[in-house]
Amino acid sequence: MTATAFAALFGAALLISLVLHVWLARRHIAFVAAHRDAVPAAFSERIGLAAHQKAADYTMARTRLGISETAVETLLLLALTFGGGIAALVRLTDVLPFGVMGRDLTLIAAVAVITGLFAIPFSYYRTFGIEVRFGFNRTTRALWFADLAKGALIGAVLGLPLAAVVLWLMRATGPLWWLWAWAVWIGFQFLLLALYPTVIAPLFNKFSPLPPGAARAAIEALLARCGFANRGLYVMDGSRRSSHGNAFFTGFGRAKRIVFFDTLLERLTPDEVEAVLAHELGHFKLKHVLKRMLWMGFFSLAFLALLAWLANSPWFYTGLGVPPSMDRPGVALILFFLVLPVFTFAFGPLSSFYSRRHEFEADAFAAKNASAPSLVRALVKLYEDNANTLTPDPVYSAFHDSHPPAAVRIARLEAA
Ligand SMILES: [Zn+2]
Repeated sequence: MTATAFAALFGAALLISLVLHVWLARRHIAFVAAHRDAVPAAFSERIGLAAHQKAADYTMARTRLGISETAVETLLLLALTFGGGIAALVRLTDVLPFGVMGRDLTLIAAVAVITGLFAIPFSYYRTFGIEVRFGFNRTTRALWFADLAKGALIGAVLGLPLAAVVLWLMRATGPLWWLWAWAVWIGFQFLLLALYPTVIAPLFNKFSPLPPGAARAAIEALLARCGFANRGLYVMDGSRRSSHGNAFFTGFGRAKRIVFFDTLLERLTPDEVEAVLAHELGHFKLKHVLKRMLWMGFFSLAFLALLAWLANSPWFYTGLGVPPSMDRPGVALILFFLVLPVFTFAFGPLSSFYSRRHEFEADAFAAKNASAPSLVRALVKLYEDNANTLTPDPVYSAFHDSHPPAAVRIARLEAA
């Protein structure tokens, strides 16, 4: 591979992913707009025209913002690579009075701050523009900025030591450094799983035990029926920030917890909560969570091996507008994470397909262990409350959606 060939390959991949992204988004907007004036027949008795139109407008607003964000991300990536941004940061950090480690960590932190600064306006507009306009937002500007600061701080406290260990391994452990780095990465993932429910999530939300009542009784009966040992049922004050509802599992091994957003409990009846939980339980019992983790483990190993090869190839640097910097492992690391998504974007549909298959399996599990009609009722309420469109463009949906379209999902449940 020559530097010119790699530059051409990267440029072509970037152009293809941009065109594909925009083409899919525009298709989606056009399809939703074309179906805005009539509720799909299967939902005509369950969802009113006003709610359907709100979902269409909300979907179009979010998708339009996504197009602008993709365009800005692409320009930023071009500026950082061909435009000489990373090359300039490498030169600037080269003269710092630290060792290689300190220079590399400064470089990584600088790139993280720059990409973060470009993402902030979009995130701000998503919350205080779109979510406010559609009546979903419940967060204040003070809380939003506090969340942002906390998120950045947690990113630094967890991310910088991880980067330091990986950078040290890259220099100190020889050609097989990537195997060591992989072991560290896997360990880090388990650390996050342990820290998230106990330390990180409580920094943002209050968790209180699920109060006794019909919902709790139904949930406990379901857990006993499925032989699931849990370490606690919690309610999270999701209503502090948004009216969107959700339920999730956190932790692993014996420390598993089940968390419900207060907004979900407010809206669903006990049998509907039970059905939603049965779906989530299905993901655990059918080993979807484990399978996902194994895939992630496999891909992270493959990517680290690829990085090890690229870090030793001068054309990788020169092709991206940076002088070869084999003595600065941080340069290869940051370039790799910047350009990797451009090449993996095309695999999105495979991952979405795999995820949608799991959703169908979890729905079938819920139909068997709780009740299909309750799950259908819960899904209709959630679709309406979250203003998810019932009429996504089929191609856009196949590419992006981790969950099957509502109509397909509900038709399968009703056939069961
Ligand atoms: Zn699911």
